[in-house]
Amino acid sequence: MALADTVWIVDQAKSLGFDLCGVVRAEKFPELQRTPEWLARGYAGEMKYLADPRRSNPQSVMPGIRSAIVGLLNYNTEHPLSIDPAQPSNDGQACGWISRYAWGDDYHDVLRERLDALVESLRERFKGSFDARAYVDTGPVQERVLAKYAGLGWLGKNTLLLNQILGSFFFLGVILTTLDLEPTVGANELPPPDLCGSCRRCLDACPTQAFVEPYVMDARKCISYLTIELRSSVPEEFREPMGNHVFGCDICQDVCPWNRRAPIAIIPQFQPRVFPPAEENQTGTSLPPQDESLHLPRLEWLLGLTEADFREVFRGSAVKRTRWRGLMRNACIALGNSTLRPGTADEGRIRVLLERLAASEDRILAESALWALSRIQ
Ligand code: SF4
Ligand code: SF4
Repeated sequence: MALADTVWIVDQAKSLGFDLCGVVRAEKFPELQRTPEWLARGYAGEMKYLADPRRSNPQSVMPGIRSAIVGLLNYNTEHPLSIDPAQPSNDGQACGWISRYAWGDDYHDVLRERLDALVESLRERFKGSFDARAYVDTGPVQERVLAKYAGLGWLGKNTLLLNQILGSFFFLGVILTTLDLEPTVGANELPPPDLCGSCRRCLDACPTQAFVEPYVMDARKCISYLTIELRSSVPEEFREPMGNHVFGCDICQDVCPWNRRAPIAIIPQFQPRVFPPAEENQTGTSLPPQDESLHLPRLEWLLGLTEADFREVFRGSAVKRTRWRGLMRNACIALGNSTLRPGTADEGRIRVLLERLAASEDRILAESALWALSRIQ
């Protein structure tokens, strides 16, 4: 294909709402070859899907694959950071932190829609027979590595893709295709340079010391893993460092200087979900008694959600990945880390919720609630 085709694809992606787009040949890039050693060290924890050998070789993902198209979508909505001094209390009530990427609608759906539209555009422009498949965290694809070689940024010491203009609060979606496209980084060019320099803010700020060295994370220690992927009890040593996190963690992005001036995302689907008063709720479930938001949700509200409420509140949200049980476990730990003490305003109501979970037959929930109760003695 001609370079003009690649230029057309990038323009088309932007017209579909992507902030950036790049094209790369599907090759075994050096970073992909480090995955087996990372896995051998056990850093993936329970995330068995990361051991799929196709993740180290794009050629093995799809027969006849030649190229990857990477789309980047900013989700940096205009709200305070998790490291801002106002945390973790909101109007004096203990609040949890949900990772910025999960405040709004599920990014899988938002990106998938745009990627599918881009695939449709490809089918209109390139008439011959070819294959093109879209992936949003759904296949054995290391999006950030492909994005680096497509010229969209560098892999920072916090292991994320960083872009000089956009920082790192963005999603990546990939289209793998048998089309032989000209890459956006030419044969005689290099991908964007690493601009981390001597900075180590992310490494020093990580509350659980999840970085074993710059550019290498032990995912088992990361709060994102502990609050979302881990199905068992959170190991005792990580509970206090988890602070008020109930789903994911943004700290190593919040402290990054490249995010300080990153542009604000205006996509309505990524704004924090808010919930109406109970009398406006038509679902028949006991949804929030007052306005609630996924930005700094009150822990008392989270802990009071039934499984039916959880399904309602987090329908079409990335938060559902942790399941009701995971969110309850995490909310217990966050409450154990809160300033809630006997005699404070909400203590009686919250104690009732915790005692109910402590009596649960679910061993993990009961144990997490008992831990929280032991901390508010
Ligand atoms: S997301 Fe949080 S816990 Fe995980 S590496 Fe970054 S700062 Fe550490
Ligand atoms: S905080 Fe500093 S070291 Fe970490 S990713 Fe950002 S620039 Fe790189």
